[in-house]
Amino acid sequence: MHNAAYAAMGLDLCYVPLPVRPDDLEAAAGGLRALNFVGANVTIPHKVRIAGFMDRLHDSAAVTGAVNTIVNENGILTGYNTDGPGFIRALEEVTSLDYPQTETVIIGAGGAARAVASALAGHGVPRITIINRTRERALDLQDIISGHFSDVTVETAPLEGGLDAVSSGAALIINATPLGMMDDLKAVPLPVDRLTKDHVVCDLAYVESGETPLQEAARKKGATTLGGLGMLLHQGAEAIHLWTGEDPPIDIMRRAIEP
Ligand code: NAP
Repeated sequence: MHNAAYAAMGLDLCYVPLPVRPDDLEAAAGGLRALNFVGANVTIPHKVRIAGFMDRLHDSAAVTGAVNTIVNENGILTGYNTDGPGFIRALEEVTSLDYPQTETVIIGAGGAARAVASALAGHGVPRITIINRTRERALDLQDIISGHFSDVTVETAPLEGGLDAVSSGAALIINATPLGMMDDLKAVPLPVDRLTKDHVVCDLAYVESGETPLQEAARKKGATTLGGLGMLLHQGAEAIHLWTGEDPPIDIMRRAIEP
């Protein structure tokens, strides 16, 4: 996706995967400076710890404490988070929501859930219910969102609470866990039978077939659905904009990742 964009933009840039051991994270950040990298993306499991090795944090990363994009300017590393804006762009490709009227459920409380929750809070959703296996992480995310967005009501619920959340009127439901990526749809705490055409169901996971089991089940119930590829695409496009100052060719990037 990145290299297809750079080729089309006529830029002499190259995007390479560089696996880094957790113990080497600080050295890797120093390596970006030493080797004059334009920047980097950061992914699982480094998004939160890398923030501690940045010279500056942009607001997009400071709210959630997670960095997915680093910009290197003359050895000064600034951490950004483009996952949230990328999610919003992808969402707006499939539906136009009246955010202040859109009660939201997020399953998961990890890095992706944090990015999506803060982006939606910033767009004015009135209520976010966080459903997570580990209660402490749900409470941490609740504190983060409540602390930055006082107008948003943030609640937590255990995994079994998914049923209540759907019946209590949430219009936007987001799976930000790897659950349901394979065939274990039963693991997703969503009563798929109760979904309707009025729901928007997003699965941040992406699979080679292009549609996760949750997405497929929600689509069959008439819900509007969104998979993870749109977010992947747009967080990458936002990163390219940060690195180059130019808008990349979205269609070429999309073709590079679509199944
Ligand atoms: P993460 O920080 O490791 O968080 C994982 C989340 O999933 C946590 O809330 C965790 O709950 C929950 N979880 C994991 N395994 C579970 C299980 N067996 N049962 C119940 N809950 C479980 O990971 P992340 O970065 O947020 O990624 C989450 C998902 O989003 C992944 O599928 C990833 O591929 C996707 N993602 C997509 C994009 C995109 O661009 N489309 C970007 C980022 C992430 P606990 O707190 O209880 O551990």
